[in-house]
Amino acid sequence: MTILANCEGRVGMDAARQALLAGRPGLDVAEAGIREVESDVNVKSVGRGGGPNLLGEVVCDAAIMDGRTLKAGSVGSLRQFLHAVSVARQVMERLPHVMLVGDGAHRFAGEIGAEKAEMLTDEQRQKHEQWLREHVPADVLAGWPNVPLAEWTWVSGKDYASGGTTTFLIRDAEGNITAGTSTSGWARSYPGRLGDSPIIGAGLYADNRYGACACTHTGEMTIRAGTSRAVVSYMKAGASVREACLEAMRDLASLEGGQLGPVVIHAIDRGGEPCVLTTHELGFPSSYFLWREGAQDVAHEQAEVARSLPPQGGTGDMR
Ligand code: ASP
Repeated sequence: MTILANCEGRVGMDAARQALLAGRPGLDVAEAGIREVESDVNVKSVGRGGGPNLLGEVVCDAAIMDGRTLKAGSVGSLRQFLHAVSVARQVMERLPHVMLVGDGAHRFAGEIGAEKAEMLTDEQRQKHEQWLREHVPADVLAGWPNVPLAEWTWVSGKDYASGGTTTFLIRDAEGNITAGTSTSGWARSYPGRLGDSPIIGAGLYADNRYGACACTHTGEMTIRAGTSRAVVSYMKAGASVREACLEAMRDLASLEGGQLGPVVIHAIDRGGEPCVLTTHELGFPSSYFLWREGAQDVAHEQAEVARSLPPQGGTGDMR
């Protein structure tokens, strides 16, 4: 049994471990862990307490994938519901679809009786207002938000530390592999922007036969490189989990232009062996939480920095 959660996942480790030790399937374990993170207002990039988009709205993306069947559910731009991951799971359980976004996701969440919540905290509202005052000239701000918004995404993109996601990768007692993600995405992004967290194959992927992967930070890059699916495919081709993550890092280093920034790759192989690589020494600790069967405690480890990799064909310009 294994639980690998990223740094935002700390508050969900106990709930996940209890579920795992109670013999619950990996889907329940990942959902239990992520729900704790979504509820915690101290996590500034997931669920309630997360950062808003340029309109000042907190919109959440989440997904879950069952490595036993390759079934997956996901929601994008979900507003005013506390547990995006649970809505994503119900998309998988109740619909013939994989993904719902925006108004449809909102409607479905209401239909299944998902828990509603005011997602924008006073702290995030104040931070948002302060950001606008500091970055947007007064004459533009006077008309906000009925002004062209595109240029402000480049401003918010310079401070990508305003993003963040929680990721949980599970190998349960039956050996089944699950991946789950949840995020409020890139703070002060353009309305309607989807990151990688709800995109199966980019932000997460799970396949019992090989392992699982989930990514955080610059979703624009992992969408382009199909990073989570790539890591699992490299393991399918015979790479170890670390070799697979390194190869996916090379793919990221080959990207040119567009939004380039940090990415953290989290992966486990089918036996639960973990690997966490980061492109950068981020401005804050890039750590993760790991619990494996037989361990007394949850381990808190630092991600390995892979930025010294030579780019394979691209500029490797990951500012
Ligand atoms: N990967 C997430 C996204 O692109 C955000 C993050 O983890 O910083 O929305």
